[in-house]
Amino acid sequence: MSAAPPGVLLFEGGTEEKRLAAATRWAKTVNCPQKKDGKPCGECPVCRQIDARAYLDVWYFDGRISNKEDEENPGVVAALRIENIRKLKAAIGVKPHGEGKRIAIIQGMYSTREEALNTMLKTLEEPGDFTLFALLVPQRQQILPTLVSRSLCLTLPWESSASATDEKFRPREDSLGEFIEKGNAEFLDQVAAKGEFDAASAADLLTACQRSLIRAVVNEPRSVLDNSLMAIARAPERFALCSRWLAEGQEMLTLGVTPARVLEALGSRLYALRRSC
Ligand SMILES: [Zn+2]
Repeated sequence: MSAAPPGVLLFEGGTEEKRLAAATRWAKTVNCPQKKDGKPCGECPVCRQIDARAYLDVWYFDGRISNKEDEENPGVVAALRIENIRKLKAAIGVKPHGEGKRIAIIQGMYSTREEALNTMLKTLEEPGDFTLFALLVPQRQQILPTLVSRSLCLTLPWESSASATDEKFRPREDSLGEFIEKGNAEFLDQVAAKGEFDAASAADLLTACQRSLIRAVVNEPRSVLDNSLMAIARAPERFALCSRWLAEGQEMLTLGVTPARVLEALGSRLYALRRSC
């Protein structure tokens, strides 16, 4: 994915800490000069500086910092005030210091004033070749739809859907992963088996799939399903397609479409998409 990174990534879900960690990892993935298998090394000067928030090409903004605070006590994280956004906008056409990309990590956008927000929107519209954006919000509904539509949205796992369901779901996840990878019929049999999936457990599997997609995109695969999505997650268009299908699947389930049909359709689409990678 770092070969052609998406221009605007939106990280939602998880906790504030986890969103920041995911964006930081992404910044390292884009900028680390010593990547191994697409993963940042975590040890080179670039990775270490990014971890220490001291890398010149990673900029931090937070709409919750007041303009006064920012003026009196400017820190690593800048307020989203118009002067700062203009600085970012001016820097956009300029080559970054390092060999990678300049990354603007932006939090607290929902509390940004309208004037600053408009400038921000214009900045995002013309990101140029050197700059990428990471927008961090609890939920995408908290920011303007025009911003969301420009972004590749990554939903981190919500705190409540933690490991309890993980164990129960692992076999189902595994068989979906194997199906995507090799087209094994086991998954289709499982889906068609009476009583195997109701709407809730099918929705859980879609959520698990979404989590896997995130782990794939940040290069931290842990399961068969994660691995099966690695190639898909690398290309932004395929990633976007996959996210959309998962969202559509959830919607169909809430509309009362038979869970087996939803999962079958999703599995087949992902299988075909995997073949096209
Ligand atoms: Zn590195």
